[in-house]
Amino acid sequence: MEPAPTPASALVLDPASRAKASELLGRFLDDYELSLAQRAIVPDVDRAALAQLLAEPFPDRGVGVEGFFADLDERILPNSTTIAHPRFLAYVQGPPNGIGAYAEAIAATLNQNCNFWQLSPAASVIERAVVHWLAGLFDLGDDAGGILTSGGSAATKDAITVALADRRPEYRERGLQAGLAPLVLYTSEEAHRCVDKAAAILGIGLDNVRRIPTDEAFRMRLDLLADAIAADRASGREPFCVVATSGTVTSGSIDPITEIADLCEAEGLWLHVDGAYGALFVLADSTRATLAQCSRADSIALDPHKMLFAPIEAGALVVRDAAKLRAAFAFSSSYLTVEEDDLMVDFMDYGPQLSRGFKALKVWAALRTFGVDAFRTTAQRCLDLAAHMGDRVETEPSLELMNPVTLTAVCLRMPRRSDAEHTEILAQLQAEGTALLGPARLAGRAGIRACVTNHRTTYEDIDQIVDRLAELAKP
Ligand SMILES: *Cc1c(COP(=O)(O)O)cnc(C)c1O
Repeated sequence: MEPAPTPASALVLDPASRAKASELLGRFLDDYELSLAQRAIVPDVDRAALAQLLAEPFPDRGVGVEGFFADLDERILPNSTTIAHPRFLAYVQGPPNGIGAYAEAIAATLNQNCNFWQLSPAASVIERAVVHWLAGLFDLGDDAGGILTSGGSAATKDAITVALADRRPEYRERGLQAGLAPLVLYTSEEAHRCVDKAAAILGIGLDNVRRIPTDEAFRMRLDLLADAIAADRASGREPFCVVATSGTVTSGSIDPITEIADLCEAEGLWLHVDGAYGALFVLADSTRATLAQCSRADSIALDPHKMLFAPIEAGALVVRDAAKLRAAFAFSSSYLTVEEDDLMVDFMDYGPQLSRGFKALKVWAALRTFGVDAFRTTAQRCLDLAAHMGDRVETEPSLELMNPVTLTAVCLRMPRRSDAEHTEILAQLQAEGTALLGPARLAGRAGIRACVTNHRTTYEDIDQIVDRLAELAKP
């Protein structure tokens, strides 16, 4: 009798299923990309289908590749937001670039563990190349380094961790329990919530976060920052860190980073710049000089999943002195020790994670595939589109521009409409398919916010949106 063939793993696809999966995936990627502009930006969610997704027990015998792709077509896709729609202008949310999906599939296939280099030699070098390119955009110097993170929030949390470790040599052993003076962190009223979240998570406490008021252009007031630092010192507290923002999330304002850096230097404070939204506009001609100020920072949070249009998640932390990042995060352990190699970096020593995916591939792939110029012109085009929108809003008598359009965020009000009506109009724009815009609150007033972090948006899209807004704003 023939011996029974050794059973293949239950978890590989047979050749026919592989062929089917390739075909269905290829078709899905093409169809989706080509139908973006026709799709509903926000789906009319089929609650019954979604409830069923929750309720359905997983099958003991699988539905197979075709069953899975049927789920995708019938239940997942119709209930997914079209983030890449050309008139998706809410939040700070870019559509992925064209190579992103392919790079993600390749990264999953290679499944490198970017914790120490032996598990990911090429990936480790690629991550280092991406980090060095990012740090180089800001001339952070030869000692600079960094790591890719899940996003800007994680990068800011990790940066504040480094600032704590740098300030308190005993931080690792005693945490913030050493009975010393409370450490105080400064940021602006327009800063992203991730700063508060980091302070809460790291045990600094929100009571020790000073939210410095902003000027008429929503930039941190330097005089009030200096006053707050002096007041905290006078009351026995210990200022340790300023988080400035280059591109606040509501209005795109850029804090006076050079002046803040001078003050931090004089006061011995760590300067972290939250550049998750705005710092990568250093790529565009018109904003390069302004954002080059970030080069004064000790650390910068960046978001390749915003202005480099990497598929989510891809954030980055770059620091002027990579040794400080390492000092905060490296732990030796006997079972993870590998040979030193100058070319390679053990990224587990530069952040809180051990197992780490090959996020760098999608960033690197896009820079290689499209070239850096493509990102420069795209950043400039987003700025130009936003400037165009700002100009149009200013000339519409029924609309009022709420912010100087520094980057790509455009906030506007309808002076004849109440706060509640602004909310209704946002819902109407969404329901009728005109655009997804977001709410804004600036200087205590409610408004509507559009943010052009979208490489697919055209001038026609912007005109269509402004025309409709002007119509809805009329009495
Ligand atoms: C997007 C953003 C963040 C948060 O970044 P995530 O990648 O969503 O974690 C922080 N700060 C600013 C200014 C942002 O625009």
